[in-house]
Amino acid sequence: MLDLIIRHASLPDGRTDIDIGITGPTITAVEPNLAAEAAQTIDASGRLVTPPFVDSHVHLDSTLSLGMPRLNQSGTLLEGIALWGELKPTLTQQAIYDRARKLCLWSMARGTLAIRSHVDISGEHLLNVDALIQLREDLKPWLDIQLVAFPQDGYIRSKHSEPNLTRALEKGVDIVGGIPHFERTMLEGGASVRRLTKIAAERGLLVDMHCDETDDPMSRHIETLTAATVEFGLQGRVAGSHLTSMHSMDNYYVSKLIPLMAEAQIAAIANPLINITLQGRHDTYPKRRGMTRVKELLAAGVTVAFGHDCVMDPWYPLGSHDMLEVASMGLHVAQMTGVDEMRACFNAVTAAPAKVMHLDKYGIAPGNHADLVILAAADPIEAIRLRAQRLFVIRRGCILSQSPLSTAQVSFGGEAHELDFTRNNLLG
Ligand SMILES: [Zn+2]
Repeated sequence: MLDLIIRHASLPDGRTDIDIGITGPTITAVEPNLAAEAAQTIDASGRLVTPPFVDSHVHLDSTLSLGMPRLNQSGTLLEGIALWGELKPTLTQQAIYDRARKLCLWSMARGTLAIRSHVDISGEHLLNVDALIQLREDLKPWLDIQLVAFPQDGYIRSKHSEPNLTRALEKGVDIVGGIPHFERTMLEGGASVRRLTKIAAERGLLVDMHCDETDDPMSRHIETLTAATVEFGLQGRVAGSHLTSMHSMDNYYVSKLIPLMAEAQIAAIANPLINITLQGRHDTYPKRRGMTRVKELLAAGVTVAFGHDCVMDPWYPLGSHDMLEVASMGLHVAQMTGVDEMRACFNAVTAAPAKVMHLDKYGIAPGNHADLVILAAADPIEAIRLRAQRLFVIRRGCILSQSPLSTAQVSFGGEAHELDFTRNNLLG
């Protein structure tokens, strides 16, 4: 007797009419026509059942602070950083905790059950670190949160960052971050990359740096990050977030850089919603797209994840922490309209970030965690097209969130039509 069976599921890999058996917190069977009984059965009726969405790049300490103390007028990264600097001295631990917790509830409802959040350690205090560590512990049964020690004002440039990094890591922050393009000079940016990577290696931690989030084609800290990854033996343990300067780099240079990244097994995290709005602000026309070279990185075998980055904060006034919106924007900005490319965009908000975050027992297979989302869509492409509704979100075998299929009534000419918008995938 199983605890739960989900019948007639379609899976992201293309298998259809699959039954998923769950015992306690674990998936115990994934096969057609599972011959077993269960205490509870959900009929997926051919809908897509996917492992949870994963957001490998977000800022929980600034989230939902839009308008505090004012709005970003220029829409640039630099004004956002200045605005955050104005807000920081007024923050309280409770307010940070409450806003971040609210966003985490939105995430759970939208089937995002793992989040990697950067947390600013460059201020005078570590209230945000304390708030997010508390939140990580409080939500542990339902949501995996990883925290990255992020020196927003620069690791070398801000006098607080170096001592605060040590304190934050000792408090239990998981990952070493950085922001080399915000240091005073290219040289200091490179030095910060080496110093931070070395600290991670010595402490046995992962690295995730905001790297080259600029339109400057000469911002090449990713090259230094690649070299430091190899030097300190961190292959497969380092992510470069944003990497937007790669968009503007010389093509010959990129033809050397991408194989170096693949060799060092550095993952790339693009943040399409944010970078399409922040980057290119100094351009007239033509105006550059603000995203790294997703197709080329994927073709070279680099793991590419898409992150949300900001939700209603000094850098971005919109967002609802919907990873399907992120996948959709990434698909459009990178022009990934081929069938396999659209599937890769779904992968960029599920399996790819799970790999970046080194999540354990992730995926629909026996022995893995029973963490699943049932979507009102037939497959990953329809899910992105519709930003499909999350009908069930299941965590460790228990229903964490549930919402009824929403429909619309269209009435005209004496006839009423009930629409649910799904099952229109024309690709077969
Ligand atoms: Zn960020």
